[in-house]
Amino acid sequence: MEVQEKILKSKSFNKINAFMKNEKLSHAYFIICESDFSLKQFVKAFSMKLVCSSHTNCGVCSGCRKIENDFHPDVLVYPKGKNFMVADSESIIENVQIKPLESTYKVIIINRIDNSTVQAQNKILKTIEEAPNNVIFLITAINSNAVLPTIKSRTQVLEIENFEDVSEEHKQIEDFCFEMLENMNSTKKITEYVGRFSEKTNFKNRLIILGETFEKLLYAKTTESQHSKLAEQFEVGAIGEIFSLITTALKQFEANVNTNIITDILLFKILEVKYLWSKNK
Ligand SMILES: [Zn+2]
Repeated sequence: MEVQEKILKSKSFNKINAFMKNEKLSHAYFIICESDFSLKQFVKAFSMKLVCSSHTNCGVCSGCRKIENDFHPDVLVYPKGKNFMVADSESIIENVQIKPLESTYKVIIINRIDNSTVQAQNKILKTIEEAPNNVIFLITAINSNAVLPTIKSRTQVLEIENFEDVSEEHKQIEDFCFEMLENMNSTKKITEYVGRFSEKTNFKNRLIILGETFEKLLYAKTTESQHSKLAEQFEVGAIGEIFSLITTALKQFEANVNTNIITDILLFKILEVKYLWSKNK
């Protein structure tokens, strides 16, 4: 089943159908999930629902087609750059005052507000609460701990399912990553894992999936999950540094650095960062 189709049939989307039917739409939704991909796809379905001329995600009306083509004049997507900044908040403050041009609603999407500064979040707070009636905020996050409680309290929280359709191979790599992180407690253990992790086939995939594993740990810190115990071993700050380490490793791989060397450095640094952050707690 295609992902959009899966979303439309999901429990969380049914809630939205019910809100709309009963005219109980909130002015702002705080949508959380462990998967960045699922958040993006869900927000797409949600905004399509809002601007579709029949509110059915028909796929053929002008509103639906514009969402499909990633441009609808009444749907504004933030951040404009990599992370949500004060400038994004300022742009939203200006734009909410402009009436929707083609649809009933004006939709403001803030992707991954957990990757933003406190200043940017503070700046947008009042607007979320006081925006004109037809404005609806769709705000997403993986790590809700990184979001001001004052933002969360002004929104309706919607915990959504993970809609990622992962292959058997993907699943195996993910299981391997979790197993590695659970057992990687000494330098001796790391040496064992370097060999397995650094195999040339699928190396890039392994790095990407390792990054996703840490996103799941961030999520597990705030929501009951089978990985909650492992998540406790990594401070949020440590995970932030680990994301940069993985980005560096990916760049080294593109530059043809030996995978064994990349893995060796990466795994030792992960262990170091984990240790340093837990010591400074
Ligand atoms: Zn439509």
